Amino acid sequence: MDRLKDKIAVITGGTSGIGLATARLFQAEGAHVVVAGRNRDALDRAASELGGEATAIQADVSRIEDVDRLMHAAGTTHGGIDVLFVNAGIAPFVAVEDVTEEHFDEVIGVNLKGAFFSVQRALPYLNEGASVILTSSVVNTMGLPMASVYSASKAAVRSLARSLSAALADRRIRVNVLSPGLIETPLLGKTGLPKEMLEGFTEQIVERAPVGRVGRPEEMASVALFLASDASSYVVGSEFTADGGLTQV
Ligand code: NAD
Repeated sequence: MDRLKDKIAVITGGTSGIGLATARLFQAEGAHVVVAGRNRDALDRAASELGGEATAIQADVSRIEDVDRLMHAAGTTHGGIDVLFVNAGIAPFVAVEDVTEEHFDEVIGVNLKGAFFSVQRALPYLNEGASVILTSSVVNTMGLPMASVYSASKAAVRSLARSLSAALADRRIRVNVLSPGLIETPLLGKTGLPKEMLEGFTEQIVERAPVGRVGRPEEMASVALFLASDASSYVVGSEFTADGGLTQV
């Protein structure tokens, strides 16, 4: 299983959920993985699980100086970056009337500003033919009453893949989007929704999705692997939705 043999893969939000499952898979496929996360404990746990082959770097993607430090360290240690998985994100659910300027700035700061500058600051280190994968969400085409800012941030991320693909075409850098449905990760416990509301929301999604269950992080990792590897060499600026059919059927 050498689909990413000797590739250097940077994964933001690589300490938990979808990012960590992807780090495990990329590593199993021969990549040298650099995981970045905000939380020191989570970073240490991820580093010890992935072992000495992986590099773990603490960085807050909403802070440009952190992103600069991350990309410089990742890009200069092993000879550039071949795969950049821009995956760090937060999803606090808040009613429209209760959205504060602070909430707005935080969600946009991590999900959109963080995504844009993760790519921009990686540019000096991205190797010719690199693959960039941006994590959006199926909410980028849905209307959820409690997720207005989150959904807007993810729609913007979807848009970025198109413009960045155009901008980076001469370097043969492909930018694509992974849009997960509802996936069982620690994120679900951090929405701020009361337990019953979260359970009701999950039930609704499970009922609507033909697959009839929530997704697993490993099921997102396998889509990310396809987008990261040469198997997707003719895929540019596209969105891959992995939601058990929720938004497609
Ligand atoms: P998670 O909470 O398990 O992981 C999120 C990761 O992002 C963590 O490693 C965390 O440290 C990191 N992170 C958060 N803020 C950060 C910051 N400011 N700087 C650096 N790192 C930061 O959640 P997950 O479900 O694995 O989410 C991964 C991505 O998938 C997110 O972008 C999320 O919006 C998206 N997504 C998740 C779901 C889902 O149902 N779980 C659905 C659609 C999209």
